[in-house]
Amino acid sequence: MKAAITFGPRDIRVEEVPIPRIDEGEVLVKVKAVGICGSDLHYHRKESINRKPPFIAGHEVSGEIVEIGGKVTNLYVGERVAIEPLQICGKCDYCRQLRYNLCVDIQRLAGGFAEYAKFPAYCVHRIPEKISFEEAAFIEVMAVGLHTLDIQQIKLGDNVLIVGDGPVGLTICRLCVLSGVHRVGVAGLNERALHVAREIGVDKVFNLGLNKRPLVEMEIGFKPDIIFECVGGFSQVAEEIAQILPKGGKIVVVGIFKRLQSLDFALLTSKEAEIKFSSCFATRGGVPNFELATDLVVNQKVTVDKLITHRFSLYETPKAFDTLLNNKQHGIIKAIVLPDHKNEQL
Ligand SMILES: [Zn+2]
Ligand SMILES: [Zn+2]
Repeated sequence: MKAAITFGPRDIRVEEVPIPRIDEGEVLVKVKAVGICGSDLHYHRKESINRKPPFIAGHEVSGEIVEIGGKVTNLYVGERVAIEPLQICGKCDYCRQLRYNLCVDIQRLAGGFAEYAKFPAYCVHRIPEKISFEEAAFIEVMAVGLHTLDIQQIKLGDNVLIVGDGPVGLTICRLCVLSGVHRVGVAGLNERALHVAREIGVDKVFNLGLNKRPLVEMEIGFKPDIIFECVGGFSQVAEEIAQILPKGGKIVVVGIFKRLQSLDFALLTSKEAEIKFSSCFATRGGVPNFELATDLVVNQKVTVDKLITHRFSLYETPKAFDTLLNNKQHGIIKAIVLPDHKNEQL
């Protein structure tokens, strides 16, 4: 099969590799769509070199089952599926409490930038016919948003500010609108994303790219009860958020930081601030965030097609990464790779 293999930062090549062989508890999926995640880009920006190349990235996967292991009883060849890409032990206290995003032996699964990828059967969620493979590849992102709102519930009439206009930030925007917030604002750098934010019901957008204005100088115009941090990376946004947070406010950190943040605890104490952190996705009331995310797509509550702005064939994966790494000119919100997409160079 063809796969887009990462050999090092900014070095992805499409090559021929063997189709993965499955164990008895696994399934083989013909990949139909796979999202490129911000975390995939960290590696290419040399912000996190924690994986040893060569490897096949891609964890936001949807596809069709083409083979099942001998011990898999609940899935069938030909079923359309989305992948919840967490390998867990299933036995530790966190797993037993269905907080498996905290599993003591957690591993993030990938392998989606390829024609075929294998996953443990427990990671596989069936998707209804109504959902396209592109939408299904976005379920993972939406599950991150849903888990964030499990960590910090929104009450009718809350004022909310979202800092960061990437796919997770915009998903949280939409979920906040659906939850009945009073005012919701989003601050970011991507003109196109901020435009989409308005379309999905956000009241106020703040373009921090204009005149390179720092967050602290922004005139929000309302008092946010909750600020969701959806930037992470090498930014120092946590400090700025601590400064703009009103007294009694809450901060929820969703972005994955690649550098230490310094926080003024005296300031946060004087505000009686609350800070929470949200990681990946898990369950609510025993139901995986993945299932609720699927329902929201089926019911058109979250219109994924507004968020998927760029599509590439498997052969174009290196180009897709290049484009994303220079996102400023391209206004990408979510880019996906469609390995099934026929391209004469494949
Ligand atoms: Zn992701
Ligand atoms: Zn566990």
